[in-house]
Amino acid sequence: MTSKHRDANDQATTASPIPRWLSACIVGGTFLTLALLERRRPLRRPIEPGLPRTGRNLAMATIGSIAVALAETPIVTRAAAMVERRRWGLVKRLRLPPWLEVCAAVVLMDYSLYLWHVLTHRVPALWRFHAVHHIDLDLDASTAVRFHFGELALSTPWRVAQIVTIGTSPLALSIWQTALLASILFHHSNLELPFEIERRLSRTIVTPRMHGIHHSVLRREMDSNWSSGLSVWDRLHRTLRLNVPQMDITIGVSGFQSVSDVGLARMLALPFDPEVRLAAGDEDLPARQDPGVPATFLVP
Ligand SMILES: [Zn+2]
Repeated sequence: MTSKHRDANDQATTASPIPRWLSACIVGGTFLTLALLERRRPLRRPIEPGLPRTGRNLAMATIGSIAVALAETPIVTRAAAMVERRRWGLVKRLRLPPWLEVCAAVVLMDYSLYLWHVLTHRVPALWRFHAVHHIDLDLDASTAVRFHFGELALSTPWRVAQIVTIGTSPLALSIWQTALLASILFHHSNLELPFEIERRLSRTIVTPRMHGIHHSVLRREMDSNWSSGLSVWDRLHRTLRLNVPQMDITIGVSGFQSVSDVGLARMLALPFDPEVRLAAGDEDLPARQDPGVPATFLVP
């Protein structure tokens, strides 16, 4: 690499992250737009309609945001700055043009989040926290921000490992975080997109019908569609399942199917309650009829 190239590389990769106000506008605007559209074109019938559920989810989001501000942001911001200064990580070794280095880091962050999502279902201690997100009886944009603060805090070491291994710059980190939040709001939303448009979108990104299948109480359906941004990771790992009719899906976690099971105080305490047994998906329910199309075909 010539010194000119190296200078250009350094300049671009040390570019400032997206301003927080801009990121907040993108994420807030996405949330409000989806919240409006969901009312006009709902995809699934609500089980627990009304403000109490939305208020509960937003309360979980507020507590989660405090955990992120205290436990994650200061550490991951420093990790990205250090990686940039010392030129650590995979993408720094590839000597890519600056714009491609940022793109590669964002894509690899998306892939390594797929792996983390699998772990949150497979490792019992992590599942106790991630189950709080799945226990919601409905699925909409407010579910996207309903994570237990413990899960958010526990993900910090994984996030640092992602950044250091990949070589994620502060700019790439801010792009990934903003895109991820917009993506999870979108694919948790209860928005009925025109079917043909969603079918095409699901070839590239995670969509509401695709992620709805991951929130099924049935284990074989919950153990699919782990991707958070690009859908390619589920295709690569053969964990893609699109052929489940939305109206047949029961959203939630086995054993938590009543509104009294999903209150705010209960959700906050649940991971720490040794009395609670959490199934990782219900295997006792009857099998579905063969949909007659391969798992990679989206059905309405
Ligand atoms: Zn999950």
